[in-house]
Amino acid sequence: MDTLPAFYEPIDGMHIAAWQESPEGIEVIAFSSRKSAVCPQCHRRSHNKHSRYVRMLRDLPVSGKPVILVLQANKWFCLHPFSSVRVFTERFEGISSSKRNTDRLQLLLQELAFSMSAKAAERCSKASVCLQATIPFSI
Ligand SMILES: [Zn+2]
Repeated sequence: MDTLPAFYEPIDGMHIAAWQESPEGIEVIAFSSRKSAVCPQCHRRSHNKHSRYVRMLRDLPVSGKPVILVLQANKWFCLHPFSSVRVFTERFEGISSSKRNTDRLQLLLQELAFSMSAKAAERCSKASVCLQATIPFSI
Protein backbone atom coordinates (compact mmCIF):
# COMPACT_ATOMS: atom_id res chain seq x y z
CA MET A 1 0.00 0.00 0.00
CA ASP A 2 1.42 3.31 -1.06
CA THR A 3 0.98 6.39 1.03
CA LEU A 4 -1.89 8.62 0.11
CA PRO A 5 -0.93 11.37 -2.32
CA ALA A 6 -0.02 14.44 -0.29
CA PHE A 7 -2.28 16.58 -2.43
CA TYR A 8 -5.42 14.69 -1.40
CA GLU A 9 -6.96 16.63 1.48
CA PRO A 10 -8.99 14.41 3.86
CA ILE A 11 -12.25 15.84 5.16
CA ASP A 12 -12.33 16.74 8.87
CA GLY A 13 -13.59 13.96 11.12
CA MET A 14 -12.49 11.07 8.97
CA HIS A 15 -9.48 8.80 8.96
CA ILE A 16 -8.08 7.48 5.68
CA ALA A 17 -7.69 3.71 6.08
CA ALA A 18 -6.52 2.83 2.57
CA TRP A 19 -6.57 3.87 -1.02
CA GLN A 20 -6.05 2.12 -4.33
CA GLU A 21 -5.40 3.37 -7.80
CA SER A 22 -6.63 1.73 -10.96
CA PRO A 23 -6.75 2.88 -14.58
CA GLU A 24 -10.30 4.13 -13.92
CA GLY A 25 -9.46 6.25 -10.90
CA ILE A 26 -8.59 6.37 -7.24
CA GLU A 27 -10.69 4.84 -4.49
CA VAL A 28 -10.16 6.25 -1.00
CA ILE A 29 -11.42 4.14 1.91
CA ALA A 30 -12.13 6.21 5.01
CA PHE A 31 -13.99 5.89 8.26
CA SER A 32 -15.28 8.28 10.86
CA SER A 33 -12.78 9.03 13.59
CA ARG A 34 -15.37 10.54 15.92
CA LYS A 35 -16.18 9.24 19.39
CA SER A 36 -19.45 11.18 19.57
CA ALA A 37 -21.83 13.25 17.46
CA VAL A 38 -24.35 16.04 17.94
CA CYS A 39 -28.01 15.26 17.37
CA PRO A 40 -29.32 17.49 14.55
CA GLN A 41 -32.70 17.82 16.26
CA CYS A 42 -31.94 18.61 19.93
CA HIS A 43 -28.24 19.57 19.50
CA ARG A 44 -27.13 17.36 22.40
CA ARG A 45 -23.99 15.28 22.11
CA SER A 46 -24.38 11.51 21.95
CA HIS A 47 -21.70 8.96 22.83
CA ASN A 48 -23.99 6.01 22.10
CA LYS A 49 -23.17 4.47 18.75
CA HIS A 50 -26.02 2.68 16.98
CA SER A 51 -24.43 1.26 13.83
CA ARG A 52 -22.27 1.97 10.82
CA TYR A 53 -23.15 2.57 7.20
CA VAL A 54 -21.20 3.19 4.01
CA ARG A 55 -21.51 6.21 1.76
CA MET A 56 -19.86 6.50 -1.63
CA LEU A 57 -19.13 9.97 -2.91
CA ARG A 58 -17.31 11.52 -5.81
CA ASP A 59 -14.52 13.81 -4.63
CA LEU A 60 -12.09 16.21 -6.27
CA PRO A 61 -9.79 14.51 -8.77
CA VAL A 62 -6.17 13.73 -7.96
CA SER A 63 -3.67 13.99 -10.82
CA GLY A 64 -6.55 14.13 -13.29
CA LYS A 65 -8.04 10.86 -12.03
CA PRO A 66 -11.52 10.67 -10.57
CA VAL A 67 -11.70 9.97 -6.84
CA ILE A 68 -14.37 7.85 -5.20
CA LEU A 69 -14.56 8.30 -1.45
CA VAL A 70 -15.90 5.22 0.33
CA LEU A 71 -16.78 6.53 3.77
CA GLN A 72 -17.84 4.35 6.67
CA ALA A 73 -19.84 6.67 8.89
CA ASN A 74 -21.78 6.12 12.11
CA LYS A 75 -25.36 6.29 13.23
CA TRP A 76 -25.94 7.39 16.81
CA PHE A 77 -28.69 7.06 19.39
CA CYS A 78 -30.20 10.21 20.84
CA LEU A 79 -31.36 9.37 24.35
CA HIS A 80 -32.72 12.79 25.23
CA PRO A 81 -36.36 12.30 26.28
CA PHE A 82 -37.64 15.41 24.48
CA SER A 83 -35.87 14.77 21.19
CA SER A 84 -38.06 13.48 18.40
CA VAL A 85 -35.04 11.71 16.89
CA ARG A 86 -33.98 8.33 18.25
CA VAL A 87 -31.27 7.47 15.71
CA PHE A 88 -29.37 9.95 13.56
CA THR A 89 -26.49 9.86 11.11
CA GLU A 90 -23.41 11.92 11.83
CA ARG A 91 -22.65 14.93 9.68
CA PHE A 92 -19.34 15.93 8.15
CA GLU A 93 -18.30 19.44 7.22
CA GLY A 94 -17.94 19.31 3.46
CA ILE A 95 -20.40 16.48 2.85
CA SER A 96 -24.05 17.34 2.51
CA SER A 97 -26.50 14.64 3.44
CA SER A 98 -28.09 12.84 0.50
CA LYS A 99 -25.56 14.24 -2.01
CA ARG A 100 -23.36 12.00 -4.15
CA ASN A 101 -20.58 14.60 -4.53
CA THR A 102 -18.49 16.19 -1.82
CA ASP A 103 -19.23 19.88 -1.39
CA ARG A 104 -15.83 20.83 -2.81
CA LEU A 105 -16.45 18.83 -6.01
CA GLN A 106 -19.95 20.28 -6.26
CA LEU A 107 -18.48 23.78 -5.96
CA LEU A 108 -15.99 23.06 -8.74
CA LEU A 109 -18.77 21.76 -11.00
CA GLN A 110 -20.91 24.81 -10.29
CA GLU A 111 -18.02 27.17 -11.00
CA LEU A 112 -17.41 25.41 -14.31
CA ALA A 113 -21.08 25.58 -15.23
CA PHE A 114 -21.45 29.26 -14.29
CA SER A 115 -18.19 30.44 -15.85
CA MET A 116 -18.70 28.87 -19.25
CA SER A 117 -21.42 28.48 -21.78
CA ALA A 118 -23.29 25.22 -21.52
CA LYS A 119 -21.53 23.86 -24.60
CA ALA A 120 -18.08 24.82 -23.28
CA ALA A 121 -18.79 23.28 -19.87
CA GLU A 122 -19.98 20.09 -21.55
CA ARG A 123 -16.80 19.90 -23.65
CA CYS A 124 -14.63 20.60 -20.62
CA SER A 125 -16.32 17.97 -18.48
CA LYS A 126 -16.00 15.36 -21.24
CA ALA A 127 -12.34 16.20 -21.77
CA SER A 128 -11.55 15.96 -18.08
CA VAL A 129 -11.51 12.48 -16.61
CA CYS A 130 -12.26 14.01 -13.23
CA LEU A 131 -15.79 14.91 -14.13
CA GLN A 132 -16.68 11.56 -15.62
CA ALA A 133 -16.35 9.66 -12.37
CA THR A 134 -19.10 7.24 -11.68
CA ILE A 135 -19.70 5.36 -8.49
CA PRO A 136 -19.21 1.64 -9.06
CA PHE A 137 -22.17 -0.46 -8.01
CA SER A 138 -20.06 -3.49 -7.11
CA ILE A 139 -18.85 -2.06 -3.81
ZN1 LIG B 1 -31.76 14.49 19.87
